[in-house]
Amino acid sequence: MADLWYKNAVVYCLDVKTFADGNGDGIGDFEGLAGRLEYLDGLNVDCVWLQPFFPSPMRDNGYDITDYYGIDPRLGTLGDFVEFSRRARERGIRVMIDLVVNHTSIDHPWFQAARSDPASPYRDWYVWSKKKPEDAHQGMVFPGPQQTTWTWDRKARAYYFHRFYEHQAELNITHPAVRREIEKITGFWLQLGVTGFRVDALPFLIEFKGTPQEGLGNPHAYLRELRQHVQALCGDVCLMAEANLRPEEVPDYFGDGDKIHMSFDFWTNQHLFLALARQDATPIRRAAAELPPLPRWCQWNHFLRSHDELDLGRLSDAEREEVFRAFGPEECMRLYGRGIRRRLAPMLGNDRRRIELAHSLMLTLPGTPVLRYGDEIGMGDDLSLPDRESVRTPMQWSAGPNGGFSHAPREQLVLPPIADGEYGYPALNVEAQRRDPQSLLNWLERMIRRRKESSEFGLGCCTWIDTGHRELLAHRCDLDGRTVFAIHNLADRRLRFSLPISDARGVYDVLAEHREEVEEDGHYHVDLEPWGYRWLRRDDG
Ligand code: MG
Repeated sequence: MADLWYKNAVVYCLDVKTFADGNGDGIGDFEGLAGRLEYLDGLNVDCVWLQPFFPSPMRDNGYDITDYYGIDPRLGTLGDFVEFSRRARERGIRVMIDLVVNHTSIDHPWFQAARSDPASPYRDWYVWSKKKPEDAHQGMVFPGPQQTTWTWDRKARAYYFHRFYEHQAELNITHPAVRREIEKITGFWLQLGVTGFRVDALPFLIEFKGTPQEGLGNPHAYLRELRQHVQALCGDVCLMAEANLRPEEVPDYFGDGDKIHMSFDFWTNQHLFLALARQDATPIRRAAAELPPLPRWCQWNHFLRSHDELDLGRLSDAEREEVFRAFGPEECMRLYGRGIRRRLAPMLGNDRRRIELAHSLMLTLPGTPVLRYGDEIGMGDDLSLPDRESVRTPMQWSAGPNGGFSHAPREQLVLPPIADGEYGYPALNVEAQRRDPQSLLNWLERMIRRRKESSEFGLGCCTWIDTGHRELLAHRCDLDGRTVFAIHNLADRRLRFSLPISDARGVYDVLAEHREEVEEDGHYHVDLEPWGYRWLRRDDG
């Protein structure tokens, strides 16, 4: 099973810049991160996914890269990276990094060469048009701040294509030299100790739009090519896609298990928040039923929040309004008309029961959970910051200056830590929660341990159970003759449920750690408190 490690892993996502500052310049760095490896080890995560740490003018939080083979000098050196990845590996923590090759920064030397000289070999690495295409005002990833997807470049005397901001020029994936370069980039980082890549903006990366091959060939075939390359270099490599897929698109991305390994399940994620808003489990079951089964080697990634807005773009307008009303009632909490730029805890009213319920769902839905730094202590957001920076404030380690993130003067910090109120670092930080056995941090640490003892959730076969209550979600996961059940009450009232277990004499409550007998009628009666949850193991002993 070793080569399926990613199917039963717990992934922790962080941004080096905002995690821990080792050299006191106000910006998180690899030295600081390496000093927090014990913390990540203690949390029992299997893998860290690092957001972009490459040289960048930072017009899009590092998703605008000027050198794929380097480290932003403020974050450290390649030597620091290798030392970090080696020390992580010694602790059994794998490292995944962002692969952002849909576009480069327009400051990248490739684009500078391409725009300056039509005869440059880099000209065809990008997507150009002499005339402004008619659909130039469609398909923006950031509608509002971004007005167009084609921008005139005076030097090149042509329009260049950009799905994202105009400073992020689209690479031409149909060009063999670009594909060859991506092979070099992935090969380089695999050699430096990473085990995989979170592939940024995957549907846009593979599209042929604007290229001479638009409408020709199958863009998804490239995924097989990329997979073969990385798999040849690293047997246990994992490609984790950022792809907000509709159910009918799923087979194109996973193939027969020979394309990507995992993908973030945006589909279920959006329906999960609809379910929480409605106190009705139906949207989660419906979403799960709509997704096609994945090939054996593949997996979904479940998550609650990310570094971006909570994207609700796949819901109907009415459904999205419901989630807005529940979790983003004010205009300043919303973004691009499709999402919510808040952290999890404030969205759920800092209600411990609802925060636990959401995490229990993430940990038990069949897939690999991805935690976002800070959510393990219930960090808040700062809506006074622009755009998505609201959910990117520094990690809150202690009640000390700058929340223990950095010794630098406050005005030097990469982003201000949240300092006031119930989410401020004096009240909410790792150090305080470590001391408190009942804290969210210690609760989640225990939950992760239970999750890792229950590999059925990651590797098993999932069956949904009819509960007779629309507020109750119940499913069982079976693996090698072992079974765990997860039951979640999405309602704010107590509910009673009879779980059918005709094939066992008892159940073991995984979280409360005690055994119960199954009734003679082959049912186990469960009382669920408001927003309650149970993990039960079939027990024949
Ligand atoms: Mg620093």
